[in-house]
Amino acid sequence: MNILLLGSGGREHALAWKMTQSPACSKLFIAPGNAGTAQHGTNVNMAVSDFAAIRDFCLDNEISMVVPGSEEPLVNGIYDYFRQDEALQHIPVIGPSTEGAKLEGSKAFAKEFMLRHNIPTAAYREFSAGNFEEGVAYLRQHSLPIVLKADGLAAGKGVVITSDHDEAVQEFTEMIQAAKFGDASRKVVIEQFLTGIECSVFVLTDGEHYKLLPVAKDYKRIGEGDTGLNTGGMGAVSPVPFADAVFMKQVDEQIIRPTVKGLAKENIVYQGFIFFGLISVNGAPYVIEYNCRMGDPETEVVMPRLQNDLLELFAAVPGRELGKFEVFEDPRAATTVMLVSGGYPEAYEKGKEITGIPEPAKDQLVFHAGTKAEGEKVLTSGGRVLAVTSLASDLQVALAHSKQTAARISFEGKYYRRDIGYEFVS
Ligand code: ATP
Repeated sequence: MNILLLGSGGREHALAWKMTQSPACSKLFIAPGNAGTAQHGTNVNMAVSDFAAIRDFCLDNEISMVVPGSEEPLVNGIYDYFRQDEALQHIPVIGPSTEGAKLEGSKAFAKEFMLRHNIPTAAYREFSAGNFEEGVAYLRQHSLPIVLKADGLAAGKGVVITSDHDEAVQEFTEMIQAAKFGDASRKVVIEQFLTGIECSVFVLTDGEHYKLLPVAKDYKRIGEGDTGLNTGGMGAVSPVPFADAVFMKQVDEQIIRPTVKGLAKENIVYQGFIFFGLISVNGAPYVIEYNCRMGDPETEVVMPRLQNDLLELFAAVPGRELGKFEVFEDPRAATTVMLVSGGYPEAYEKGKEITGIPEPAKDQLVFHAGTKAEGEKVLTSGGRVLAVTSLASDLQVALAHSKQTAARISFEGKYYRRDIGYEFVS
């Protein structure tokens, strides 16, 4: 089968690497892709939300499955677009309908959904211009710290956590009255601060059944010890030592099952990945956020640990046949360390030549994120540049390998965190 994968990050390189291992994969196209995805298929210069171009491309190239990597095309409605066009109806899109993608696209929608289905999450209130003054009064008497979230997508910048009432009111005012994040902050969710340790749980669902994928933990801050600005993600580990059988049983019973059942009950079509951003509060799981796609950099440790044929699982989604499959995990630990451009997540330079990328091996893979090929050279083309993934019998050894390789790869301004997985190694 010919497949079109949408996206250009490390997540998409990992998905491309995994999908092309399947005997069912005839041709893989990646739009727009990067220098790494080009090793597994053909990059196509097409934007992920240019549905008209995607339509023509699918028909011209006999595409029989579309796999959106990022949330953008999903939140913009690619699933419904394909279902509503007679010429495209035979092509499954691995992802939720537009309504299902609201689990990520609207925090208020996600919170209301969790409330309806009794899914543990932080207590909250929702405010907009209509009840702005009430929101200010609510904030003034709120316990500290306060968590404010713009309702819509805000490129990871829409969440503010502050221990200062004045700052909270100022942020709230900027979000609602000055439309700091445009339409995304017309509504604001104010929620209880939860203290605990986070992890990322992924399932693939066909709308009726679901399969749990390896659990991961990512590291969002730029600085060691989880300090400094937020980034797209600086590294990840899998498995997650605290996500043991007892914890995961609670996650399954209290969170995953009610989510999948709740979607079905509300007739919300969902045939793709659900990413549960969880926090363990003294061993009890709470949902911090839903995402409607895989995480990046978590995919760079989840895919290497997934032993199933990913396309076989995807092919079972449209016909709701996922129940037939069992998921097998590589018992080894996987770690990934992200190499980023100097200055990221603030201003950084692009176009630096990268050298020293090792050939893929059984226990080491380097996934490209912000890279582009220029002749024989590979150049940096983004903030996050490469994800260096290692597999080993334990996390400590895998981390040591990722760091050794990270040290050997060169480009001007290279930076990476040396403490990924720090809570889990001695
Ligand atoms: P992402 O970039 O992960 O998509 P986002 O903008 O969708 O982020 P959230 O994931 O909801 O926002 O929040 C970002 C981070 O803020 C979380 O990973 C978590 O560390 C912290 N956070 C969010 N909500 C809470 C909460 N109620 N209590 C404590 N920390 C929280």
